[in-house]
Amino acid sequence: MDPMKRSWMALTLALGLVLAQSTYTVQPGDTLYSIAKRFGTTVEALQVLNGLEDPTKIAVGQVLKVEGQPPAPAVQRLNAPFGALELPREVSQGQTFRLRVRSGAQVTVRFLNQRYAVQGESLLIAVPRLHPEGTYAIAFDAAGSSYSARLPVRAVEKGRQALTLSPDTAALLQPDKIAAELARLTDLCKSGPAEQLWQSTWKKPVDSNRITTIFGIRRSYNGGPYRSYHEGLDYGAPTGTPVFAPAPGVVALAEALFVRGNAVVLQHGLGVCSGYWHLSRIAVKPGQQVKAGDLIGYVGSTGLSTGPHLHFEVRVHGVPTDPAAWLVRAP
Ligand SMILES: [Zn+2]
Repeated sequence: MDPMKRSWMALTLALGLVLAQSTYTVQPGDTLYSIAKRFGTTVEALQVLNGLEDPTKIAVGQVLKVEGQPPAPAVQRLNAPFGALELPREVSQGQTFRLRVRSGAQVTVRFLNQRYAVQGESLLIAVPRLHPEGTYAIAFDAAGSSYSARLPVRAVEKGRQALTLSPDTAALLQPDKIAAELARLTDLCKSGPAEQLWQSTWKKPVDSNRITTIFGIRRSYNGGPYRSYHEGLDYGAPTGTPVFAPAPGVVALAEALFVRGNAVVLQHGLGVCSGYWHLSRIAVKPGQQVKAGDLIGYVGSTGLSTGPHLHFEVRVHGVPTDPAAWLVRAP
């Protein structure tokens, strides 16, 4: 190669690196939304790229990465008696991780008091949001033998939110009805197609960059204890704004629920489902197959809701996980 061409290539490479790592310093009056708009990106991408635990809180002078991909999680590769394993070096509360198992045997995994059968070569596990920080055993059972590794769970701080509900809305907080509705959703999310239906990162389900409530924030209703947490991501959007399937799936539920209002649940395979609550209208029927970008309903404020918004959630084997990650680098 001639020297001129070589130096041009070096320059292009250096420029590419600079662009891939460009940063922005937060100015007075900025919001993550305004920064996302300026750089033609999304609040979810900025959140994941910068490891922001609460994307609604940024400080003047804070330096944000605005381009590039978030780093892939560091993995540990292990050789068990029954085959090869690949798992992350550490995980966080509310995060989904992928486990790869190459073995001729049927493998069962035990982690945080749950048991999972590996189908094919991949298993997704969500770390419960409120599981205490610490290092835990992850155990593999196959062909009559057991193998165990250590997996640290890192804590994340998402803050607290005290909600004041009107008497009408508070009347929806009936423990038996809440429990029954949740049990039904969890069951739906534990079933569904065995194979993974998505091939790429998920699309945003609504055209809004206004996140009104993040995943994982601890919640108290009408001065009660902070017993629960927010299980999804809330987008502020006017009533009637279209809601789209973020990934291919099968409609598992499309009806009015007591707490969640007009609801749609999609199953995406591999134990993953997504939910859309408080819709003004539902545009799909149970059993229907959808592609990424298909219309599934419209934003509303039905059920336990204080104003028009889309509540979007993702569950893995029934456990809620932070949806933002799925919109930037699907696990
Ligand atoms: Zn919500």
